[in-house]
Amino acid sequence: MQRFLQIFGFLALCVASISAQVVEPPSWRQPAEPFRIIGNLYYVGSADLTSYLFVTPKGNILLDVGLLENVPLVESNIKKLGFRMEDVKILLNSHAHFDHAGGLAEVKRLTRAKFVASAGDAPELAGGGKNDFAFGNRYNYPPIKADRIITDGGKVELGGMTLTAHITPGHTRGCTTWTTEVSDGGKTYHVVFVCSVSFPGYKLVNNPKNPHLVADYQHTFQVLRALPCDIFLASHGSFFDLPGKIAELKQNPSHNPFIDPTGYRQFLDRSQAAFEAELKKQTESSRH
Ligand SMILES: [Zn+2]
Repeated sequence: MQRFLQIFGFLALCVASISAQVVEPPSWRQPAEPFRIIGNLYYVGSADLTSYLFVTPKGNILLDVGLLENVPLVESNIKKLGFRMEDVKILLNSHAHFDHAGGLAEVKRLTRAKFVASAGDAPELAGGGKNDFAFGNRYNYPPIKADRIITDGGKVELGGMTLTAHITPGHTRGCTTWTTEVSDGGKTYHVVFVCSVSFPGYKLVNNPKNPHLVADYQHTFQVLRALPCDIFLASHGSFFDLPGKIAELKQNPSHNPFIDPTGYRQFLDRSQAAFEAELKKQTESSRH
C-alpha cells in the first residue's frame, strides 16, 4: 500500500508539473539574424518573439525583450548590428505577459534604461505576471517597476524620435499598441506595433475577473482600424509573417516587404472574425 501511495504521489506530481509547464513553440527561443527593418528601426528579437531597436543620436529605445532566457540573444543581436546594449535609454513593452516582458527586468539591470509601462499593465509587471486575469499565477517572470506610467495617447520622445501609446485592452488590461513614423529614402512611413488581439483560452462572456472584456476587444479593433499603417509589425512574428518577409527581403533587398498596409488590414479582418466566432460560440453555450 505504501509503495502504491509512493507511486501515486510521484505520478500526481508529474501531472501537476506538466500542467503547470508552458508549452512553448520552439520559434520562441530560436535565434534570428538581426536586420534593419526601415530607417532607424531594427529587428533584434528571436524567430517569433519580437524585439525592436530604435536608434537615435541621444541613445536607443528597445520595445520588448521576449522571455527572460532570450536576453543574451537580444543582446548579441544588438552587438551584431554594431550597437551597444548600454546605449538603450528607454525600455518599452507591448504587454505584461512572460513571453514579451520576461526579460525586461534583466535588461533594465544591464542598461539602467527608464522603463515606461501602461497604467493597465504596470501592476502586473510590478508583480512579475502574478494575478493575470486569464492565467492567474501560471506564467511568472522577474518583476519590473515602471519609471513612468503612460496612458492612451501618451508620447515617448528621444533623439528626435516619438512613439505614441495606444491602449488596446483585451489580451491584457493595458495592452499597448505603439506607433511611430520613420523616414527612409526621402519618404515617411507610419509604423504600427500591434500588441495582441488573441484570446488564448479566455472566458470572454461573463468573466467575473474582467466584466468589460468583450467591450474592450471591440474597442481595440476600432482603435486599430483607425490607425494609419504602412509598416505592419507586432509582438509575435507570426502575426505579420516575419519568416516569409525575412525570406522575401533576402531574395529581393530592393523591395521592402515590411511595407504592408494590406497585410495589416487582412490581419485585423482575420483576427476580428476569429474573435466574433469565439464570442458567438461562448454566448450560445452560456445560454444552455
Ligand atoms: Zn500575451
